[in-house]
Amino acid sequence: MTEAEAAAELERLAAEIARHNRLYHTDDAPEISDADYDALTRRNAELERQFPHLVRADSPSKQVGAAPAGHLAKVAHALQMLSLDNAFSEEEVAEFLARVRRYLNLTDDAEVAVTAEPKIDGLSCSLRYEKGVLVLAATRGDGTTGEDVTPNARTIGDIPQRLSGDVPDIFEIRGEVYMSKADFAALNARLLAEAEDPDKARQFANPRNAAAGSLRQKDAAVTRSRPLRFYAHGWGEVSALPADTQSGVMRAIKSWGVPISHDIGLFTDVTGLIAQYRKIEAKRADLPFDIDGVVYKVDRLDWQRRLGQVARAPRWALAHKFPAEKAETILEAIDIQVGRTGKLTPVARLKPVSVGGVTVTNATLHNADEIARLGVRVGDRVRIQRAGDVIPQVLENLTPDEKRPAYVFPDKCPECDSDAVREEGEVDIRCTGGLICPAQRVERLRHFVGRHALDIEGLGITHIEAFFRDGLMQSPADIFTLKKDDLLARERWAEVSAQNLIDAIDARRMPPLDRFLLALGIRHVGEVTARDLARRYRSWDAFQTMIDGVLALRHETQPVIGEEERKFLQRRNKAVVEAVGTQNIGPEVANALLDFFEEGHNREVVAAIFAAGVAPADVVHEVRQSPVTGKTVVFTGSLEALSRDEAKAQAEALGAKAAGDVSKKTDLVVAGPGAGSKLKKAAELGIEVIDEAAWLRIVAEAG
Ligand code: AMP
Ligand code: ZN
Repeated sequence: MTEAEAAAELERLAAEIARHNRLYHTDDAPEISDADYDALTRRNAELERQFPHLVRADSPSKQVGAAPAGHLAKVAHALQMLSLDNAFSEEEVAEFLARVRRYLNLTDDAEVAVTAEPKIDGLSCSLRYEKGVLVLAATRGDGTTGEDVTPNARTIGDIPQRLSGDVPDIFEIRGEVYMSKADFAALNARLLAEAEDPDKARQFANPRNAAAGSLRQKDAAVTRSRPLRFYAHGWGEVSALPADTQSGVMRAIKSWGVPISHDIGLFTDVTGLIAQYRKIEAKRADLPFDIDGVVYKVDRLDWQRRLGQVARAPRWALAHKFPAEKAETILEAIDIQVGRTGKLTPVARLKPVSVGGVTVTNATLHNADEIARLGVRVGDRVRIQRAGDVIPQVLENLTPDEKRPAYVFPDKCPECDSDAVREEGEVDIRCTGGLICPAQRVERLRHFVGRHALDIEGLGITHIEAFFRDGLMQSPADIFTLKKDDLLARERWAEVSAQNLIDAIDARRMPPLDRFLLALGIRHVGEVTARDLARRYRSWDAFQTMIDGVLALRHETQPVIGEEERKFLQRRNKAVVEAVGTQNIGPEVANALLDFFEEGHNREVVAAIFAAGVAPADVVHEVRQSPVTGKTVVFTGSLEALSRDEAKAQAEALGAKAAGDVSKKTDLVVAGPGAGSKLKKAAELGIEVIDEAAWLRIVAEAG
């Protein structure tokens, strides 16, 4: 490799690693696995070793993490928070010990005690105790400046507000905030269940991201609702030390009431360290939390002080990482899994293979594009990777063969046989039979009765799941044929509770048209679109007539190929959009509507709902004239007398449009306490701002 090539690669690596640092530390949304990230930093280190004079000023080897994200207050660390040097082999561990000995100029028979403990995969946090009382909690940030997360840290049970026992005046405990694997899975499930739009539900990629995202919240109440844990593994600024060894100080920290690792061992040679490493690695899969290696630390603190640090890491410590776990096996089948929201995900069924102590039988193939990229078919030999924290994935096809026919992605949903379609410009293929698809039914039912849809009080997810399981409720129509006796026959239902639920259901037999449209769970049809459609068509019959007309139009022309087809699609999309004919509806929504009604199963379900005694109410326009009629209003901040939903409904009843964001089109902003950026924007644009009381006067005057 020439110098010029090395310099160019170092430049590329610096930029790329910086980007991944930002994704990982600032956005909590990494794009690559830790193993791949480590590979990049190792490549960087390797080149820097070969070409020491090419080390860049902005080299990743000199940096820790990424700068704080900005929405939390910054804190300068009294003592820098460091990273750790990594090792991946026994030789590197031996080299570490040899380096320590050389640096300290020890004789060959001098004993060097080293601790070994799991490297837990969370985010580091520094807890400053003054006179035993927690005064500040900060994230690592870039090592020099972190973020103030004190109120958030106070919500974590493992972090005491006050230490017990004989604690030095100033003592910064450093350790890891993390989330257990089980809590991580439960959190993702909860976020999905609570999301209004399951397609947009926030899902964390792994427990570490979940921990980081949960700790770095503006609102500590959110942190409180997340099951975070903490354990100590070191310290920062201290006024005195309770012991003169690493293990001694850790014992003291534990005695003050802060958890430390259960697995700290003390060893005097490489053999002992490696044995501990293997022992921890063997336990890895069964541990309740993710770990990604073992950390070794020179035990004597006077030696730690002499060894000091290089660049961003101490010379007295080393992180011995677990290798990215890869294996080769046979792809026995490709199954299609249908997610709760209809997404079809191809899953590789594998000949069972052991990867790092865990038997792997499945790996994700992500989507149709990925299958094409890998060129895999059933029977191929593949290389897979298990990155500990994510689902195993297929990395590579070891037996590519272009002559054999490629895998064909199904165009029907394997669960319900409805059409599976790929929207223009999307990678995912989705089942369009949401209302009948077994994979999606529970989710659709939940959506159907949800707060923004039919809003049936007392019919929550627990009931839906139980009713579904027992065959009492398979599709939305079953809600309306539910009998009081069905409920009374069940455990824990009494006369009053059963009657209440039946009443709540009856109260929704004539839902407003927009809520009914929303309830059907048609892709891309959210609240705003449903309302636009309801306003435009006013009755279900008119809406249905329009849809049938447009469907006919969609089928009219024979598709052709190439450029002609593209033009045809464009023309057709335009015609479809025009025919649907409401504002704010583009081809995406129009086609989603048509896909939905084109699927006969969905029509059957809608017919069944009507047959069960449901009739969406027609929209009657009775706009009350007022100064805001025809204007666009934005509500921001917290309103006291009104909920957001009621305020928006009032605006609409006055013939005004309630928008979410302030823009040039906004005519009026109603701001309650705590209004932030929208208020600022309104001021910049010179838009009239009033408070809630003034708004209520406008509503009252309109009569
Ligand atoms: P890295 O961020 O990959 O450079 O690794 C360094 C980080 O590992 C430290 O900043 C700690 O937050 C974290 N870590 C996890 N477990 C330990 C441990 N037992 N001892 C020291 N650091 C640990
Ligand atoms: Zn389906």
